[in-house]
Amino acid sequence: MTEFTAIEHPNPTPQEKITEALANPGFGTQFTDHMVTVEWTEDGGWQNAKVEPYGPISLDPAASVLHYASEIFEGMKAYRHSDGSIYTFRPEQNAARFNRSAKRMALPEIPEDLFVQSLEQLLAKDKAWVPGGEGESLYLRPYSFATEAFLGVRPSKEVRYMVIASPAGNFFGGELKPVKIWVSRDYVRAAPGGTGAAKTGGNYAGSLVAQEQAAANGCQQVLFLDPLHENSVEELGGMNVFLVTNDGRVLTPELTGTILEGVTRSALIQLAKDRGLTVEERRITLDEWAAGAADGTITEAFACGTAAAVTPIGELLDGDKTISHTGDYSTTLALREELLGIQTGKVEDRHGWLH
Ligand code: PMP
Repeated sequence: MTEFTAIEHPNPTPQEKITEALANPGFGTQFTDHMVTVEWTEDGGWQNAKVEPYGPISLDPAASVLHYASEIFEGMKAYRHSDGSIYTFRPEQNAARFNRSAKRMALPEIPEDLFVQSLEQLLAKDKAWVPGGEGESLYLRPYSFATEAFLGVRPSKEVRYMVIASPAGNFFGGELKPVKIWVSRDYVRAAPGGTGAAKTGGNYAGSLVAQEQAAANGCQQVLFLDPLHENSVEELGGMNVFLVTNDGRVLTPELTGTILEGVTRSALIQLAKDRGLTVEERRITLDEWAAGAADGTITEAFACGTAAAVTPIGELLDGDKTISHTGDYSTTLALREELLGIQTGKVEDRHGWLH
């Protein structure tokens, strides 16, 4: 166990202000009173773990992250159960992915127990910020970045790990409506040997122009294609993709090193199998998707991730072509309800996913 130094916020947010903030959490705009910082040096390893008041940090202007984007992050949620207890969902999966990202980006790996402890420490301080409404949670953002003041291009000898937390409502806002997706033909997200399987800031910075195109065309998210295999579906800017067939199959692009392995994706594969559905992880082309949607063999499509849970896809806009789904989304909604149910303590946690 790492010893954390705890520094109380001198001016904690009064409960009525927290209640006000939680009444309309939105996504990613409000932050809790505390944050976690752990420092790493090449010589000393991880040290100086702290939970301290949330606030601006100071960095040397030459800090490597500001020049070469040496940064990785995670995204996960804490849920309030009806008895007031607070749970995270498979945090060891996020720790493992964080360390896979670290390896790829030449940043130091962090022991799983320190990662999990950092979440516990922050939640212990800021548990009043975990909302308990339908579809609500406290979003946790662990991240590491290179702080060494050095302009040479090589792995940093100094790194900082932090965790901040932000109350979250429904990611797409308001009631659950099928989303409209833009197929990116001008930009790709990842290529073999690249950083697509790592959760690193640059992947998201590079997706912003595509996201802007999507928004300009009335779409909420971007679908990226495989740059090597024509018309093959990869993933959305921040979510994995699934299709449901009329003969009890669930399809999702296989992990080839260019897409992010979602914790939600892996849980849904398990829940789909539990329901007796056949899960196929393989290459899926837009032609197969379009043909299946047109002849009724592909009945549903959905996006999934921590932020948006499970969200039906209504339309896919690909230039002047549109793929539409108008089904009842029965499988999508059943999987969504079961996953959210487990996370919020309303459905038995039979796989031991809660922490
Ligand atoms: N793909 C990308 C590119 C993402 O950013 C995310 C969100 N982390 C996901 C998929 C879904 O992953 P998870 O289910 O772990 O949130």
